[in-house]
Amino acid sequence: MNPRIGAYNRISLDVQGEALGVARQQQDNAEQASRRSWQIVESYTDNNLSAYKRAVVRPAFEKLLADLESGYLDGFVAYDIDRLWRQPSDLERVIRIYEDKPSLVFATVQGDIDLSTSQGRTMARIMVALANKSSADSSRRVSRKIKQQAESGEPHWSRRPYGYTLDKTLDPIEAPVVRQMGEWFVQGFSYREIAWRLNEQGIRTRAGSLWDVGTIRQFMKAERFAAIRLHEGKMYDGNWPAIFTKEEWAEIQLVIDLRKLEYNGRPQSKKYMLTGILKCSCGGYLRGMTKRDAPGRPMRRTYQCPTSSETERRMDTCGGMCVDAGSLEHFIRESVLSRIETPELSDVVGTSSVDRERIAELRQESVEIKNRRDVLLDDYTDGTLNKDELKRTQERLSARKALIDTELDKLQRAQFNVSLNEGETAREAWMDRPDGWRRALVDLLINEITISKSSRKPFYDVDGKRTRFDKDRVQIEWKTDIDK
Ligand SMILES: [Zn+2]
Repeated sequence: MNPRIGAYNRISLDVQGEALGVARQQQDNAEQASRRSWQIVESYTDNNLSAYKRAVVRPAFEKLLADLESGYLDGFVAYDIDRLWRQPSDLERVIRIYEDKPSLVFATVQGDIDLSTSQGRTMARIMVALANKSSADSSRRVSRKIKQQAESGEPHWSRRPYGYTLDKTLDPIEAPVVRQMGEWFVQGFSYREIAWRLNEQGIRTRAGSLWDVGTIRQFMKAERFAAIRLHEGKMYDGNWPAIFTKEEWAEIQLVIDLRKLEYNGRPQSKKYMLTGILKCSCGGYLRGMTKRDAPGRPMRRTYQCPTSSETERRMDTCGGMCVDAGSLEHFIRESVLSRIETPELSDVVGTSSVDRERIAELRQESVEIKNRRDVLLDDYTDGTLNKDELKRTQERLSARKALIDTELDKLQRAQFNVSLNEGETAREAWMDRPDGWRRALVDLLINEITISKSSRKPFYDVDGKRTRFDKDRVQIEWKTDIDK
């Protein structure tokens, strides 16, 4: 039997008279449906409402969702995606229904999205993200010419962007740099680390300056590297070469979302590799802090024992310990690497394949849960959900989230622990990998590091740079059960 579907139309005023009439949308929807042998049983039209304005209720959209849920419809068509939802929460509501009823069908007139696959959902989310981006400045009057340019995939560049030449081909030097950024980012390098690595290699921005976190972040979000031309919330295929495939770009966007969640309210600086494992002889955990030895001298990184008043639970700490971070981290690096080089431990960083696909899947689900939590709160606010239901669902989601986090954590650690390449030494890896890799290795081998007081200040050599550091102060408690 042919699927019985609904056709959704919407007219909004925010596109300044350039909106297509409902009649035109209806006609396109009908063509789309008949091409697939779907039967339109009802039309749903919201008039003169902007999907972007959050508070606006769209009665036809609500009825459409209800009819999908009740089984009256087997799916629906819509003119295009930004007529449907400009808010992630609208999309999540539709996705929820499609997840519960995998047999539902869905099509848009402008480009197809398959909501029954996780990839299709990712694409839909990207489009919503892009639509949101453009809604924010859609009040600007856009000329006919720019619109035509967009539709033909013509870029809207006021000057040559990084990665490309003036005649819209890939720049042979810059394009690989952008690609490399993306690869590092997905591998787990932070914006800061990526900037640092590029600067270290002598690579400079177009203006000839050093890379900074803001620029790297901007690059990772820029849709032009996937050859996507964005105009008024619609995606067009750009007529210039892509540096990332759309799938690669989608993964980068997912990682951005996920990191935002991970770091939410947890400003942890990885500049201090040893925090949480490094103790003062008084029992307190040392904290990473910068310090200036005298006015006018450069800042240097140190680990310090906090005074009692600085600790959360007023622990009885001495507050009188300070050790140079660069020297200590160098000493720990050398200790760890020489320990790995012993025959008994040479296999610790052995081989095991990294399940990239599973990691991507879990990341995706993690973002989905976050979005659903937002939707729940919306539903609760507008009365669709009562307090008990809200609480129950939140608990269920939290439990699922905890499971995902555990598995993700394990996989990501595995990724760090085992990612020695063929023929690569642990020392080489130490220099090349993200902070997370180094810390994972330290965690794998070391239980605790205790620093005791000392008044001696012998010279210590940090890769050719002389510092004052007494390595006899450092006591490393190695793990002994790592072979199991
Ligand atoms: Zn102390």
